[in-house]
This record gives sequence, structure tokens and C-alpha cells, in this order.
Amino acid sequence: MQRNRLEALWQGRCPRCHEGYIFKYPLSQFRKFSEMNQSCATCDASFEPEPGFYFGALYVSYAFTIAIFGAVWFLLYFFLDPPDWVYITAIIVSAFLFIPVSFRYSRILFLYWFGGLTRKED
Ligand SMILES: [Zn+2]
Repeated sequence: MQRNRLEALWQGRCPRCHEGYIFKYPLSQFRKFSEMNQSCATCDASFEPEPGFYFGALYVSYAFTIAIFGAVWFLLYFFLDPPDWVYITAIIVSAFLFIPVSFRYSRILFLYWFGGLTRKED
């Protein structure tokens, strides 16, 4: 069965063939979360179309971080209403925990949006 674009994006696969992985290791290998493949192992699409391509992904990552802050604040405020230091601690801890996730998805999204790699039938 063919994966659709959303499944491939979610799984961090190549935007063109939806098969090869963009990152070298699964997220569970925490210390290597940032290592990317240079190109797709299946269709040879380049995962770095030009030098500095991912600079703009910083903005996507920034948006993720703001969204995480907002979500943590919202959950705490409505369910626990804790003292201020709890907000600060929870927001800092969650920001650190989400670094690998937001790093990866900001790059994956950026590659999907701007990498110019699409399937023929898309
Ligand atoms: Zn591919």
C-alpha cells in the first residue's frame, strides 16, 4: 500500500518517494537526533537542495516552541493553577524535551514545503 503525503511527513520520510528516511536514526536514539541523510536512500532525492537551506527552518522551530509554551501554560492554568515557579519550570523542561522533535519536524516541514520534491501524481 502506498503511503500518503501526510503519513510520509509524520514518519519523516522522503517527500518524493515517501520511502527513504530523512534522518539517519529514529528519535529514540536521542543523542543523534540531528543527523540527517544527505539524500534519499531509495530515490536519491537531495535532502539539502542548497547550502543553508534549513536556515529558514529556524522560524518553523520557533513557532513550534511558542506553540509548546502556549500549550503547557494553558494546561497548567486550566487544570492546576500552580504558583509561578511551576509554570517557569514546566515550560523550560518541556522546551528542552521538545528540542529533538521540533528540530526534526521543522526541517521535515521545510523540506516538504520548499524542497521542490514532490511526487509526480501530487
Ligand atoms: Zn526518496
